[in-house]
Amino acid sequence: MAKQSKAGASYGACRFCGQSVIVEDGAEMTAPQLEEAATMLCGCDEAIKYQQEKNRRTVAKQRINELFGEDAGEYKQPETVREIMLNAVDAICDKKNESRNGNDQNGASLPDHANGKGQNKGRAGNQRQQRICAVGGIWQ
Ligand SMILES: [Zn+2]
Repeated sequence: MAKQSKAGASYGACRFCGQSVIVEDGAEMTAPQLEEAATMLCGCDEAIKYQQEKNRRTVAKQRINELFGEDAGEYKQPETVREIMLNAVDAICDKKNESRNGNDQNGASLPDHANGKGQNKGRAGNQRQQRICAVGGIWQ
């Protein structure tokens, strides 16, 4: 996918629309890094959503480190506590990414009610699934 061009720059393709984007300093990047960089530079709707999501994750982690890290004085937390918070940010952001890709429609590992035990059970399962989606929606 990566094409070499003038010194230091390369082309990467946006993950969502496939458009070629010049990545400054891209010559040293691996193909996945180049794709990531191109996606972060692309102006298509999906790429912008992704950029906002990624920035949110980055900012959230920075804030955790500022508020509870080495320089936080009396609020400084042990490394393990900060790690839990950082992991929680990842979990939140990853979950949101999953639902944007539509995986929540058949994912969420709910039991399959299609084994002849009646329609009502199936409907209850769907309601539960919708509730799970609504919880995910808090993180807009
Ligand atoms: Zn794009």
